[in-house]
Amino acid sequence: MKFSEIPSHESAKNRLRNFVESGRIPHAILLEGPSGIGKFALARAFAQYVHCENRQNGDSCGVCPSCIQHASFNHIDTHFVFPVLKKSSPKRSFSDDYIQEWKEFVAENPFMSFEKWPGLLGNVNGQPQIYVDESVELIRKLNYTSHKSDYKIVLLWLPERMNIECANKLLKILEEPHDDTLFVMTSNNSKEVLPTIYSRTQRIEMRRLPDDIIASFLETKYSVGSQDAISLAHLAEGSIVQAEKLISVSDENKLFFDMFVHLMRLAYQRKVKDLKMWSENVAGFGREQAMRFLAYCQRLIRENFVYNLNLPQINYLNAQEAEFSRNFARFITERNVEKLIEVLNKALVDISSNANSKIVFFDTAIKVIFLLKSDK
Ligand SMILES: [Zn+2]
Repeated sequence: MKFSEIPSHESAKNRLRNFVESGRIPHAILLEGPSGIGKFALARAFAQYVHCENRQNGDSCGVCPSCIQHASFNHIDTHFVFPVLKKSSPKRSFSDDYIQEWKEFVAENPFMSFEKWPGLLGNVNGQPQIYVDESVELIRKLNYTSHKSDYKIVLLWLPERMNIECANKLLKILEEPHDDTLFVMTSNNSKEVLPTIYSRTQRIEMRRLPDDIIASFLETKYSVGSQDAISLAHLAEGSIVQAEKLISVSDENKLFFDMFVHLMRLAYQRKVKDLKMWSENVAGFGREQAMRFLAYCQRLIRENFVYNLNLPQINYLNAQEAEFSRNFARFITERNVEKLIEVLNKALVDISSNANSKIVFFDTAIKVIFLLKSDK
């Protein structure tokens, strides 16, 4: 991956280049920002740049032996750390167990869709984590003295998914860094990175991609017509991954929309028995999907509130959603919008911490009845 293969992010690229040119590369760098914008791709491009034997015009050459090894994920001094699922046996679980799946995943999804990852690990409902075994293994690897390049580089995807035991072990390396070791981490949610780790990194903030960059990416890579590309880019909210998902007219989105409409209709009509059935249906989603559904509901509530303001340029609804909002938006006002989002968010937190999802969804549905009513 070369810098030039990643759209936009010029200031982040420049900072990374400057680290190398000045000869002062921080031992731990954290690229933080929303998901789907190319942070991990940039981390890979940086590692390739550091290792390149023939850097030119502020980019790696792409053709030297080192660049070629990077392209096939086989660079001997580049180590990948990423969240995995615990195996029942053997007892230890770390990234190398899944390195083949990982290489294929990153090669096919350079913008890294986290949603796809648990399925590739063999369980769509799994919640991958970085376990303590990972640090043990990493320390072992880094202590190997022999290396070919000036730097061993650890590319760590999603430090927010690192458990505390692992973080504590890893901290020892970050506190007393080897001169020849660099960590580059990329986080979608840096508020959840343990503060002890976070504070030891040099942070580079990356922002959502501009609509025109996403539109031209869609036109080039997927031959989308320019008008469609612009509307898709607008809906994608700065994320290439989101834009790619929208192209394939996601079945999941349609399902979520139907379930949302159901919930609102039944709650408005106070059909408690039907809401019970609704909760059981939604509880049939896996945990990660249920969490995505709740995030979707929050978004639609917010968008329906915005709909009332009559500002289409800041309204992110597809055609079907907008059609529904024509009648529904008037039920979402300043009196209930915050409460509704709060209730949905509470449900999301409960589900993520493994609460019984039938109960959570039913409880949420009942609260929605009152919140829709309170507007009368
Ligand atoms: Zn090169």
